[in-house]
Amino acid sequence: MLKNIIELTKKLVQIPSIADKPEELKRVLETALKEVSQFSIERFYENNNPSAIVYSGKKRPDKFRVILSGHLDVVPGHKDQYQVIEKNGRLYGRGTDDMKAGCAAIILLFKELADKLSFPLGLQLTTDEETGGFAGVKHQVEKGIKTEFFLTAESTQLNIKNEAKGVIWGKVTAKGSAAHSAYLWNGNNAAWKIKAFLNKLEQAFPVPKKETWQTTVNLSLINTPNQTFNKVPDKASAGFDCRYIPADRGSILAKLKSLVPNDLSLEILENESFHYCSPKSEFISKLSNSINKVANQQAILNHGHGASDARHYSAVGTSAIEFGPIGNGLHSDDEWVDTQSLLLFYNVLKEYLLGL
Ligand SMILES: [Zn+2]
Repeated sequence: MLKNIIELTKKLVQIPSIADKPEELKRVLETALKEVSQFSIERFYENNNPSAIVYSGKKRPDKFRVILSGHLDVVPGHKDQYQVIEKNGRLYGRGTDDMKAGCAAIILLFKELADKLSFPLGLQLTTDEETGGFAGVKHQVEKGIKTEFFLTAESTQLNIKNEAKGVIWGKVTAKGSAAHSAYLWNGNNAAWKIKAFLNKLEQAFPVPKKETWQTTVNLSLINTPNQTFNKVPDKASAGFDCRYIPADRGSILAKLKSLVPNDLSLEILENESFHYCSPKSEFISKLSNSINKVANQQAILNHGHGASDARHYSAVGTSAIEFGPIGNGLHSDDEWVDTQSLLLFYNVLKEYLLGL
């Protein structure tokens, strides 16, 4: 089986499936789908991004028990990265770690198991995760592709990433009135108003000194249209990027709003879901057992500071995780995946799905 996973990974890596090459996105998806042509395939196409859901049987189930998901797009790499190099028990190349090897494994696993399981299994392949997953996973969610459990095979060192932070981008604007700098009493300085807000924001979300699992806020921009030293600015704004932990999901927006004084306005420019799956859920406990048994290692639950496609299913209340092989160097010139871990990943998932 490992040989087949490596062969398919090589085929997928050869295709430079980057965002601004829609033809290559189509080609990489069709190359992957050739492996599962005996199953039902539903294709989607949104904003130049093809994607598909694959299942056994003629009719798509109202709700899958499990969806195995993967993205076949990559960030741009050097020319020589589009050729897998096998070295020291690793596969090097663009998309080996993120995440064509993981895709190859779930494609072949789906092929082996889809007809054998007593529950509906979906294989979801998309081509736009690196640009947000809106035309891929999110689009399929909107088209009614439901599941009890969503698993994306991003590399996680065979650990279970059961939660990742959500993202809120906010812009706060203050208005005042202009005056000559020599006669401050005639004006109302919008920049000072922004400073007062920023003081409160900094106090509420101090910059952590080291990595920590808590909600953070970055002060990203401070602006004023004023270009003159001898003028009281009548307008100023600040932009922030809040990364919130799933535990704060119910309170974070209200907290941010409460920090904005009444005479300032807050605009939310981005509000992206976290992802989460309870450590107590059957999906996690059984997967942990399979990791212990098959990979002979203690299953570790991890959280992610950055987002993945899992958030699109979390946003509609579905348990979602990332679970995948061992690798490193994603988006770098030195991207690789550990070859043996691909087989372990395959076998852990196989044992897991057969025991669900
Ligand atoms: Zn990825």
